[in-house]
Amino acid sequence: MNQRDLSIAEWPLSERARKLTSSAIREILKVTEQPDVISFAGGLPSPATFPTQRIAEAAQRVLTDNPTASLQYSATEGYLPLREWVARRYSTGDVTIRPSQVLITTGSQQALDLLGKTLIDPGSKVLVETPTYLGALQSFSLYEPKYVQVPTDEAGLVPEGLTPELVDDARLLYAQPNFQNPTGRRLPLARREALAALAREGAFPVIEDDPYGALDYRGTPLPTLLSLAPEHIVHLGTFSKVLAPGLRLGYLIGPETLHFKLVQAKQATDLHTPSFTQRVAYEVIKDGFLDEHIPEIRTLYREQCEAMLAALGTHMPEGVSWNRPEGGMFLWVDLPSQIDSMELLQAAIAEHVAFVPGAPFYANEPRMNTLRLSFVTVPPAKIDEGIARLAALIRARI
Ligand code: PMP
Repeated sequence: MNQRDLSIAEWPLSERARKLTSSAIREILKVTEQPDVISFAGGLPSPATFPTQRIAEAAQRVLTDNPTASLQYSATEGYLPLREWVARRYSTGDVTIRPSQVLITTGSQQALDLLGKTLIDPGSKVLVETPTYLGALQSFSLYEPKYVQVPTDEAGLVPEGLTPELVDDARLLYAQPNFQNPTGRRLPLARREALAALAREGAFPVIEDDPYGALDYRGTPLPTLLSLAPEHIVHLGTFSKVLAPGLRLGYLIGPETLHFKLVQAKQATDLHTPSFTQRVAYEVIKDGFLDEHIPEIRTLYREQCEAMLAALGTHMPEGVSWNRPEGGMFLWVDLPSQIDSMELLQAAIAEHVAFVPGAPFYANEPRMNTLRLSFVTVPPAKIDEGIARLAALIRARI
């Protein structure tokens, strides 16, 4: 066969595929993979938190005790003991979550895709925070929605901004109340109650994406939207930040009426999340391991967060501001309005330091003078060095 005939550029692609653009984050991550770059760009959990030995032992036990079931096809909804574990973990006081509300997904990213598939038509109105998680925009965009940004302030989404006109005819509202990616903001209780009240009206699902809720550095958790409106919220969780992202294990908790369609969509996508990883994860967590493991992650990340806040305070010039996250992995920086963080990134990469510019996190009308810093992957000594380099570049542009 003639190799030259294999150029796929010539194959007709779907309209949808032609509209796809690569994630700015992925492109940046390629550059920052070089070992000498101090990267605050990636949202990668610290590998120091991966319970490698426990996962190895659990994998061995699963293969010894249940070789057939763990290597065989299994139910689309997920491994029942794991679904029961999720349901128990989210059942508190008056709130009972049923295992039938839980769908195991291949990372919570898959839940975003399945929600896009089942809820969005071309032109559907989708409400998102300003800014919001770039990966959610990527997932939903495949289904060609019309994004409407909900106003936010330093505390996150402003419920008063959800006017009847704004929410009219919406297909979904996507929100991250805990330590939002990219801003690190946490939504106050009164605003959570307002969102839960909106969800109870039932006109469209309110999606609560919560990968960072467990990473609470103050030890003062606020109620999830799910706990405030358990029959009306679609809650997304993940094992990526508390066990290991490579397991690709997440879950969706939502009304059974929606599950029916999500399960059909998931069947078409991957039949089910791997039987093996579900069983391994369950084996690791079934006896309460996360209750000892999560506090260790919190301690590590809290120190890292403090190191970054200290470095910012020491090095950043007047006119630059940032928030003080109470959890999660990220903080959000506002630069003087004349600085474009995309241009700054080019200069930063030349100085071997990286971050993610704020623009890709906006569904519409990006603010160019913003950027996201992750404090979890770089050790404290390097954090100071990296922030000092970044501050020098910013100072040169003021
Ligand atoms: N939602 C948010 C807000 C995230 O930050 C991430 C990961 N960066 C995800 C979903 C996807 O996580 P995963 O698929 O690993 O569960």
